[in-house]
Amino acid sequence: MIPGDGIGPEVIGAATEVIAAAGVDINWDRQLAGIAALETFGNPIPDELLRSIRKNRVALKGPLMTGVGRGFRSINVALRKTFDLYANLRPIRNLPGLRTAFKGVDLVVVRENTEDLYAGIEHQIAPGVVESVKVITAKASRRIARFAFEYAQREKRHKVTAIHKANIMKLSDGLFLACAREVAKKYPRVKYEEMIVDNACMQLVLRPGQFDVLLLENLYGDIVSDLCAGLVGGLGVVPGANLGTRYAIFEAVHGTAPDIAGKGLVNPIGAILSGAMMVKHLGHPEMADAIEGAVESVIRARECTRDLGGSLSTSECGDAVAKRLRD
Ligand code: ATP
Repeated sequence: MIPGDGIGPEVIGAATEVIAAAGVDINWDRQLAGIAALETFGNPIPDELLRSIRKNRVALKGPLMTGVGRGFRSINVALRKTFDLYANLRPIRNLPGLRTAFKGVDLVVVRENTEDLYAGIEHQIAPGVVESVKVITAKASRRIARFAFEYAQREKRHKVTAIHKANIMKLSDGLFLACAREVAKKYPRVKYEEMIVDNACMQLVLRPGQFDVLLLENLYGDIVSDLCAGLVGGLGVVPGANLGTRYAIFEAVHGTAPDIAGKGLVNPIGAILSGAMMVKHLGHPEMADAIEGAVESVIRARECTRDLGGSLSTSECGDAVAKRLRD
């Protein structure tokens, strides 16, 4: 368990309470990362943390702070790269009882997690001129496409839409698309479509119900995930998983939200549902379903935080979900 920075400890506290209430007996190995680790060990990504993830292979993680335009490189990105967590999976769906602009949203963002502009290769070639390198490889593109189609097949989803800007980035996004097309041929039962990212953003806010599984490179995946979160109630309700062949780190889509940290205002549902994804991954789908059911019940009863129109604090909302599970 990595409580994380900003609102991290509040949401992870609620998530672990709910997991215990669901009857999943986890002996947590609590590890510091990010600012908390920097202050304690002088290192934002301590060896103990890496050893723990290597040993346990599964983690529930709060967000970690990354400076804008300065400071150390993103620890979130470093962890994804270190453990080769190449797939970022973010289910986005309407929660029953929560009024939002759209009904019938039930889509899944599959975001490539290891390359693209997130490779962090930037240099100044002359004063006032910088270059940022977008890295796209056939290997990473093929494996994320395979992940999306395997997921679609397993979860009985009918369509994968590859989202790109290959009209402008003909080589990089062109390669990503070529790989997606090649993989799509091996899954004839799953429909395959392509859409340019700007059009996809418009379509998502016009008719989100037309989408099923979205397949995206890293940066488009980051931006489109937040857009999709907005369709179903905001960053407070969307869970996520970073998955590789050997390791898995579960974390909500939102970041550290320093503006509301420590005030009991943050919505813990995203972290709680990320916990449910982890519980399913650990082999307890029935307990994961129970957690999702308890979340839905709490939202229907408006026992939620202010961002969803409720009046509960973060811990009260976590308690309400946990109580449903215990009753
Ligand atoms: P970071 O730099 O770590 O990504 P950020 O503030 O840029 O942090 P987010 O943490 O993703 O970005 O949040 C953006 C805004 O959305 C926050 O300022 C906050 O007001 C709101 N928000 C994010 N997560 C939640 C949540 N779980 N509950 C309520 N509001 C949230």
